[in-house]
Amino acid sequence: MSLNGKVALVTGGAQGIGRAVVQSLLQSSAKVAMVDLNKDLGEECKAQLDSEFGEGNCTFIECDVANGDALRDTFQNTVDQFGHLDIVINNAGITNEKDWEKTIQVNLTSVIKGTYLALEHMSKENGKQGGTIINVSSMAAFMHSPHQPVYTATKHGVIGFTRAMADAAIQGDYGVRIHALCPAFVDTPLLQSVEDEDNMGKFVKFKDDFKRSMSKFGVLQPSLIAEGMMRLITDTSLHGAVMKITCSKGIHFHTYEPMSA
Ligand code: NAD
Repeated sequence: MSLNGKVALVTGGAQGIGRAVVQSLLQSSAKVAMVDLNKDLGEECKAQLDSEFGEGNCTFIECDVANGDALRDTFQNTVDQFGHLDIVINNAGITNEKDWEKTIQVNLTSVIKGTYLALEHMSKENGKQGGTIINVSSMAAFMHSPHQPVYTATKHGVIGFTRAMADAAIQGDYGVRIHALCPAFVDTPLLQSVEDEDNMGKFVKFKDDFKRSMSKFGVLQPSLIAEGMMRLITDTSLHGAVMKITCSKGIHFHTYEPMSA
């Protein structure tokens, strides 16, 4: 499906899953703001994408999503440059048990802030045209590991927040579909960081347990995660979906029992 005329913002877009998603969005003819902390990587990535898709379709904005004012400016920059906003992917994430407060800030607080900013620019409540928000969680929210307690907590938090906001969007008639995406292990630089004492602190001693899980459950390619994202963006029948992507079942959805006391 063509996304011609649509504008997307992807955080953590210069590498790994985010980069694969930026590429898929450009392939579908969307305009994309690639937002990342890493300036060198972002500029290099933009140059490659410009040569593949032509100049003027992708912009790189250097931003630390944990800086609320900078994130607000980044959203405004995107709208100033491309005219409006239709798709927001809150993807930037880290795995750092040593600086666990930073992990909460990047993986959860910034996802909440990114969702609220997206709604400011997309919700019918604010006179805008509607859109789609995807918040990146993880299968760590379903299969916890002793190796990443705070990372696991943030990914649980992303699902809880996203489901509640999806209900708010439906009941408040925001015209915005809000989803959570939960990949299993994906072959990106983030996976290498889990063997590093600088990131994992005292939990690094559980890395063999983590690596055993990786060989048991397998490792996905970022392109499959991008495929899942594109489905969440283009299937307008989906609201508040929690998509899981695993080696054994591919792209599928988590289902919940109806709420009862
Ligand atoms: P990655 O480390 O390969 O890429 C993350 C990108 O985010 C990098 O370009 C980095 O510079 C950027 N980034 C980090 N902190 C940032 C910040 N504060 N502000 C702006 N940009 C920042 O990671 P990935 O594997 O592509 O992970 C993307 C998302 O997918 C994360 O939320 C991660 O938790 C989630 N996830 C990853 C896996 C996996 O196995 N790789 C599995 C499940 C979920």
